[in-house]
Amino acid sequence: MKPAQFSYHAPKTVDEAIAVLAEVAPQDGRILAGGQSLVPTMAFRLARPTHLVDINGIDALRRLEVDGDELCIGACVRHEAFRRPVVAGPLGELLATVVRYIAHYPIRTRGTFCGSIAHADPASEWCTVAAALGATMVAKSVRGTRSIPAREFFAGIMTTALDDDELLSEVRLPLLAPDTRFGFYEFSRRAGDFAIAMAVSCYRTSEGKIVAPRVAVGGAEPKARRIAAAEQALVGAVPGPDSFAAAAAAAAADVDPMEDAMTSADYRRDLVGTVTRRALERSLS
Ligand SMILES: Cc1cc2nc3c(=O)[nH]c(=O)nc-3n(C[C@H](O)[C@H](O)[C@H](O)COP(=O)(O)OP(=O)(O)OC[C@H]3O[C@@H](n4cnc5c(N)ncnc54)[C@H](O)[C@@H]3O)c2cc1C
Repeated sequence: MKPAQFSYHAPKTVDEAIAVLAEVAPQDGRILAGGQSLVPTMAFRLARPTHLVDINGIDALRRLEVDGDELCIGACVRHEAFRRPVVAGPLGELLATVVRYIAHYPIRTRGTFCGSIAHADPASEWCTVAAALGATMVAKSVRGTRSIPAREFFAGIMTTALDDDELLSEVRLPLLAPDTRFGFYEFSRRAGDFAIAMAVSCYRTSEGKIVAPRVAVGGAEPKARRIAAAEQALVGAVPGPDSFAAAAAAAAADVDPMEDAMTSADYRRDLVGTVTRRALERSLS
């Protein structure tokens, strides 16, 4: 199938992009970033945007740099940029670990970090990382700029707090302290498939006990989110099999899993326990 007819816009600046978007958003105008989610849905005619605002020619959106205590990821930064650590320390290592699980190499060379966040697939690895670390999403429109914390940004399956006329210009991830331990684990039926469930964990230790734990689960519910019950099970505990099992059980009990023709809710719940435990175990390796 070929996409339905649309008008194509190629702005060269952010101001131009948001001005065009303000005009075309009411007629189902959309941003085109890497096109790795949007174009297939257009080809199947599941999406029929009448206008595409292609942001790939906007140099300012290629920004990938540390600003204060955050890593700023512009809207045109591709997944593949994270294959090697983009910043020294645990954050760079976490991103380099996670990126290998996203789709396949050709998709990673074109798809963007911010496109994944804006698309908000429940099984997006970057959405799960953003939820775990408490990312900030920067949205721009002709009405101004606003910063949206991850806990308010993800609203449900492919639904976010972005308005139709807003460009997600960058995502800001907090740098992780050098002694932060992290782990990531996901389960999918085949390499490159979307995960059925995944977990990101990170924490620090003080006198051998866990402090400031973060545990987020993706793929199991309509949106990736931190699981407070699992984090509470870790606070003050010694990292190891007992505390990890307790956190895993808490995560499994807390989620309200999605169900589909291939995967029952019970199976996904069980999997949430497993991926949470394994993500925590990887924090020790
Ligand atoms: C076979 C296959 C397997 C895949 N597997 C995975 C996987 O395992 N994990 C995973 O996370 N993803 C996977 N993907 C999706 C891939 O990661 C996409 O690159 C990503 O979801 C979207 O990024 P994009 O830049 O391609 O966005 P696009 O496809 O260009 O856009 C997607 C949507 O987001 C909107 N959008 C994009 N950027 C912005 C922005 N800056 N501001 C506002 N709105 C914006 C667009 O308007 C559109 O509605 C897979 C894709 C394919 C085809």
